[in-house]
Amino acid sequence: MNSRPKIVILGAGMSGIACALRLYKNFDVQIFEKSKGVGGRLCAKKTKEGLFHFGAQYCSAQSSAFQNFLKENDAKKFLGSSFDMNTNSCIDTHNYFVGINGMHSFLKNYNQILNMHFSQKAIKVDEKKKLVYFESGNTESYDIVISSLPLPQAQEIFEAEIEHDATFNPCISMGMILKGQTHNEHNAYKNIDQDISWLGSSKFYNPGDNETWVLQFSPQTSLEKINNSNNSLEVICNDAVQHTIKGKYEIMHCGVFKWKYALCKRSNLEKKFTSMSDNSFAIGDWNISPRVESAYISGSELGKFLIETRS
Ligand SMILES: Cc1cc2nc3c(=O)[nH]c(=O)nc-3n(C[C@H](O)[C@H](O)[C@H](O)COP(=O)(O)OP(=O)(O)OC[C@H]3O[C@@H](n4cnc5c(N)ncnc54)[C@H](O)[C@@H]3O)c2cc1C
Repeated sequence: MNSRPKIVILGAGMSGIACALRLYKNFDVQIFEKSKGVGGRLCAKKTKEGLFHFGAQYCSAQSSAFQNFLKENDAKKFLGSSFDMNTNSCIDTHNYFVGINGMHSFLKNYNQILNMHFSQKAIKVDEKKKLVYFESGNTESYDIVISSLPLPQAQEIFEAEIEHDATFNPCISMGMILKGQTHNEHNAYKNIDQDISWLGSSKFYNPGDNETWVLQFSPQTSLEKINNSNNSLEVICNDAVQHTIKGKYEIMHCGVFKWKYALCKRSNLEKKFTSMSDNSFAIGDWNISPRVESAYISGSELGKFLIETRS
């Protein structure tokens, strides 16, 4: 019989997995994820044309713990240069890391050691009964529940109010193939104009594969145009690409990805996770700042806290 306290973690993005990695040797940890795989906003899509990073494009690593995590998970250095069109200068990318098989590949190996349940969307947490309800009709009991969802999504499923002032911006990402001859000096461009904040080639993470491009709309334009048709978004995208990438080519669109909750507006290092009660907690980048490393720190710090206080 398993007598270890049971911890249910909702979400298998960076923060949820970082937390589980701290806890799984001391607790019975069960992860429930609504999608078919790990990653969350570290999202990559493989198509016959190539690989597209629709979420985080790269991550930076300041803490030695996160640097070690990236090393263990085969992260590579960002290749080539990135150019900021606002300041007209190259960005220092020496501390930028990427996953050559998609940013979610940092988390893929943990399927073997963590108990993960996919296609399980949590719809309600009953904190009195200590039960999580899922869209599938399943329920799961817990001793401790941890949400790793973006704050607005966590607020929807917990009955108790989660007091926090973080807010989120949406982001529209567009994946493309350029057919023909291109002459681009840099592998990525930032702050292209008021509509477009990022245009990056897959050459910065995988020079050997078919070249793909990902464009991200700025937070303001994403907010204004999140409900626009893909065709009207493609018009804005065409203009930006043709002004930025030189050559004779045609733009083939391979997909639009709309993130309702992409990047939180926050920068705070004081509280790395949120306690709703003795048995319920919320982790995620939004506790600190909109970065992959912040998600890792948030999950890892809650794990450390629970080991120190509950095991
Ligand atoms: C377009 C975009 C570009 C970005 N660019 C960068 C960048 O260049 N560098 C950088 O450092 N950061 C970047 N970020 C931010 C980075 O991706 C996030 O900070 C980080 O991935 C957040 O991890 P997380 O674990 O906090 O949340 P998430 O990755 O959002 O994980 C939450 C998980 O919960 C799951 N979930 C949601 N609802 C439910 C539910 N009801 N039941 C069960 N599971 C559920 C989700 O599917 C997801 O897997 C970017 C993000 C986006 C969207």
